[in-house]
Amino acid sequence: MSENTPITVAKGDGIGPEIMDATLHILKAAGARIDIEEIEIGEKVYLRGNSAGIEPSAWESLRRTKVFLKAPITTPQGGGFKSLNVTTRKTLGLYANVRPCVSYAPFVKTKHPDMDVVIVRENEEDLYAGIEYQQSDEVMASLKLISRPGSEKIIRYAFEYAKLNNRKKVTAFTKDNIMKFSDGLFHKVFDEVAAEYPEIENEHWIVDIGAAKLADTPSAFDVVVLPNLYGDILSDVAAQIAGSVGLAGSANIGTGAAMFEAIHGSAPRRAGQNLANPSGLLLGAVLMLIHIGQGDVAELVHNAWLRTMEDGVHTYDIFKEGVSKEKVGTKEFAEAVAARIGQKPETLKAVSYNAEAKFDQAKLEYKPRPRQTKELVGVDVFIDDDKRDATALGKKIEEIAAGDLKLTLISNRGMKVYPGAQPETFVSDNWRLRFQLAEGAVVTHQQIIDLLGLVTGAGYDVIKTENLYNFDGKAGFTLSQGE
Ligand code: NAD
Repeated sequence: MSENTPITVAKGDGIGPEIMDATLHILKAAGARIDIEEIEIGEKVYLRGNSAGIEPSAWESLRRTKVFLKAPITTPQGGGFKSLNVTTRKTLGLYANVRPCVSYAPFVKTKHPDMDVVIVRENEEDLYAGIEYQQSDEVMASLKLISRPGSEKIIRYAFEYAKLNNRKKVTAFTKDNIMKFSDGLFHKVFDEVAAEYPEIENEHWIVDIGAAKLADTPSAFDVVVLPNLYGDILSDVAAQIAGSVGLAGSANIGTGAAMFEAIHGSAPRRAGQNLANPSGLLLGAVLMLIHIGQGDVAELVHNAWLRTMEDGVHTYDIFKEGVSKEKVGTKEFAEAVAARIGQKPETLKAVSYNAEAKFDQAKLEYKPRPRQTKELVGVDVFIDDDKRDATALGKKIEEIAAGDLKLTLISNRGMKVYPGAQPETFVSDNWRLRFQLAEGAVVTHQQIIDLLGLVTGAGYDVIKTENLYNFDGKAGFTLSQGE
């Protein structure tokens, strides 16, 4: 019986096949215990009329192996093609995007010679759920969703990653001074999970100043865990300031499957010329080897690669007169790394991976908590109205809404405008009317339906409603600005 781990490989487009061949050559030289199943994805599949860029048979392989080493693909120009990365991420539930951003000074130019940061980005939630609406002539809305399971999974992953890789600190960035509920939950869960790992230092920064600090002094950070949008932006910033966008690999991890790749694209203009640097994909493959419990092979590959870098054997993209020694093509670079298997770097820091270190999957599983007691205490009714007179609107609604639910405030783009409108406040055509009972009494759904009947009956266009709930006696909704 084979002891090998089956993995699914896609060679992709552009420079993909060359850098994948180079990567697999090095893995073989290092004795990686893998069996390869190759699938076709990308441009050819898209152009055959498959709008997802991946055939159903490829999913079978991925479901079987659960490990995907993927070269970059070219997304054809023009509409109608779905992003393969987003499809793969969503289909396989790959919730964690892990991107080590390391500088290799003095061998690769960087302003931050001491940088060694791992960005752990939440991959499924936040504004990327893609739930968007035009609500009125003037106002667009995107829904930002942050869940407790989503936050717990990614944050626990970051701490488990830190533990497994001997990292000393995990930092979270949020904007919970403004987004008290969504980012507030992420921060709260971070504090809870951090308490389970007393041996690992933890800290939280507001994302604006945290991002500034990361760009200025990356050596102050170790593992950084972020909600999706901040993670998307800051993982690119981090890779760029390390000086090595072309050198970074990344892992996309799910509960059942994982995908490993370079962070760059298919560089079509460099394709087929034996020019491309395979390092990004190779470092993605190193993350894969660690993931499948072959830390011993990962260590051999990574150290041989570091040695090649410091020996000045460089592809064109990082070649620099005076620093580099030999300009090589993709194949020659792969040969150079393969020839150094067993060697360690002398100037750069050698890596060491525990041979069988594997994530504790049971720890990463979300354990549901007891449900909270929920009480309906009001409703926000959004209407489209372009008369732009908050006081007149408020008086009219008070006349119309003659039932039990009373108008307590009106806000426009989140700013309270009634009662007590300030003449300076700019108003759009999109209004939020908040209705509650006296002293926070519990509301029935029928009372809300009756209210909506009154408001629409008076000719107002109700765009949407949002129920107001208390959870375990605490308001599950924010006050308006100015309230
Ligand atoms: P790109 O990353 O392919 O190229 C950007 C620049 O970096 C180019 O100058 C390129 O020559 C250079 N470069 C990139 N990788 C290199 C390497 N390994 N060695 C040497 N030089 C390298 O980005 P792009 O030009 O914006 O996109 C090209 C195509 O790749 C597009 O179709 C895009 O959709 C796709 N893309 C795919 C992925 C993916 O599959 N994960 C990611 C990003 C872009």
